[in-house]
Amino acid sequence: MVSPSISSFADLALNPLIIKALSQVGYEQPSPIQAASIPPLLEGKDLLGVAQTGTGKTAAFALPLLTNIDVLQESPQVLVLAPTRELTIQVAEAFKKYAQNLKGFHVLPIYGGQDMGGQLRQLQRGVHIVVGTPGRIMDHLRRKSLNLDKLKTVVLDEADEMLRMGFIDDVEWILDHTPKGRQVALFSATMPPPIKRVADRYLVNPTEVRIESSTTTVEAIEQAYVQARNDQKLDALTRILEVEAFDGMMIFVRTKNATVELAEKLEARGYSAAALNGDMTQALRERTVANLKKEKIDILVATDVAARGVDVPRITHVVNYDVPYDTDSYVHRIGRTGRAGRTGKAVLFVTPREMYMLRSIEKATRGEIPPMKIPSSKEVADQRVTAFKQQIKDVLVSDELSLDFFEGIVSDFCLENACTAEQMAATLAYMMQKARPLQISEKELKHDQFAFNQDQGRGDRGDRGRRDEGRDGRGRRERGAREEGRGRRDEGRGKRDDSRSAGDRPERKRRDSEPRQARPESDVPMVKYRLEVGKHHNITAGDIVGAIANEAGLEGQYINNLRMFDDYSTVDLPEGMPKDLYRHLQKVKVKSQPINISQFDGADSSGDDAPARKPRSGGRDFGSRDKAPRSSSRDRDSGSSEGDRPIMRRKPSGDRKPRENSRNRD
Ligand code: AMP
Repeated sequence: MVSPSISSFADLALNPLIIKALSQVGYEQPSPIQAASIPPLLEGKDLLGVAQTGTGKTAAFALPLLTNIDVLQESPQVLVLAPTRELTIQVAEAFKKYAQNLKGFHVLPIYGGQDMGGQLRQLQRGVHIVVGTPGRIMDHLRRKSLNLDKLKTVVLDEADEMLRMGFIDDVEWILDHTPKGRQVALFSATMPPPIKRVADRYLVNPTEVRIESSTTTVEAIEQAYVQARNDQKLDALTRILEVEAFDGMMIFVRTKNATVELAEKLEARGYSAAALNGDMTQALRERTVANLKKEKIDILVATDVAARGVDVPRITHVVNYDVPYDTDSYVHRIGRTGRAGRTGKAVLFVTPREMYMLRSIEKATRGEIPPMKIPSSKEVADQRVTAFKQQIKDVLVSDELSLDFFEGIVSDFCLENACTAEQMAATLAYMMQKARPLQISEKELKHDQFAFNQDQGRGDRGDRGRRDEGRDGRGRRERGAREEGRGRRDEGRGKRDDSRSAGDRPERKRRDSEPRQARPESDVPMVKYRLEVGKHHNITAGDIVGAIANEAGLEGQYINNLRMFDDYSTVDLPEGMPKDLYRHLQKVKVKSQPINISQFDGADSSGDDAPARKPRSGGRDFGSRDKAPRSSSRDRDSGSSEGDRPIMRRKPSGDRKPRENSRNRD
């Protein structure tokens, strides 16, 4: 259903200032979902987009909706509902990026756990686009601080995720409180029946857009994937380059700007790399490809557009540094290697949120793509030493070279400076290291972000597992039922302005301001901690969860049993917290109040403490790093059969200052 005929943004009737911004951010051409979604959205039609993260779906709705807003009218004209605060922030930032040339444009992200006063002030000042999580948007609608009278469009982003998280009733409530006749765009990676029902109920004659891909087999190419956040990709790539024996390599990125940036970074690290993008003249592109053929360069960093028709037999490796928009494009990209009967290797980088793309690719290529282990810094250093020794051996055994002259220099030097030949050789080895040291520092070893976390077994595909669950909503329902069975109360439900019966709402509802409950899927030994922030500090559970999640880089599913008392709270976190993280968390503040985390000693004045979730065997811990003192709590289990993959880690920024109420992470 996707029309591939649109090959340029200029072919779309977008605001020229937005097209200019696209060129500034380095986009070369619309992705398939964009080519198919932009025209109907510009015309004001409703749209049903079956698309996942990585396809370019955000721009698919952001570009036409920005074109259609009236900047002079400072009231919300577009409302985007998204399942998480991370996505809310990302979408708002995408709007800002595309609207960078629109004077006076304002977009506001709104999510639970964020300071309400700030949100109210910004709303009063006037915004054109609001991006928010359903719970907080409902709060504002109830308070009448968000006025949707002038609303033109509602976007439901990642609708199946909103279903999975129990927000779908809230979404419907919000839709019921928007003006009649507004445009609705619904994007979802999957179409489980409850989402289909929402689409049938709220979308009028929608244009349906889905990316369909043909299935192909790619036998001559060995494939692997690497799960890495965007800020980890460069480090992961350079480590791969160190240990993989490659001849020629093509690295695919999404934007023109990224080709130049990455090629420069690789050059700075001692690789001969060049950019290949659509801004380059045909002659320059041809010269660059010829340089790869002639072995003047080894790595080409290219966009899809520029790489069309590149056929260089020496390409042994293709790296998808940015995930391709669809599976056809993946197959096309990796086909650059494995040419002329040779074998090739293809590495796919996926961010945690793009794991779904991996699944689509596997389906289309009819094969499982295994995870690739990123070498630790120790392994990289060992590899450098091995390569260094090999280099010396090669020269030593070469019949074509005579070393007599050089031996003379060595013995003269040693005599003159009263040193041994070993000392001199060591000095030379030290001098030869340049950008790639043979020895790694203790600090580097300690902060190695890839030392533990790359044993990504199939079972570790958290995102995939969770999304699979969302497909029919069953996992969620079962979990919901178990939680209800533990006596969980859903306080908001009774007050709902919603006439449908409970039977119509199989999905458990959770407001984004509610405390998190222990989730059965978090099968990890837990330790209970005490935080010196409580109800009297005017802090919500969302504030605490948000702060821990962001500061510790910890997924919500590992923050369990948060209980708030008047002056303090308790929370279960995975066992084995690294010491540096523990110290860091002690300093984190929520609403100016230091959380001052400490191990909970069970001395709960209210006597109202619930035991932490009983651990099961086979859980994971933080990894074998320097650990915070172990709990004496009954709630732990020393077994860790899944290796050293850390669940929680400090961000690699070293001496970062703790922030108050932090934000986005990838
Ligand atoms: P999304 O699927 O919306 O999460 O987008 C995934 C990534 O693709 C984001 O980093 C976007 O900036 C990028 N992107 C979206 N559309 C394009 C495009 N037409 N050209 C290059 N990059 C794009």
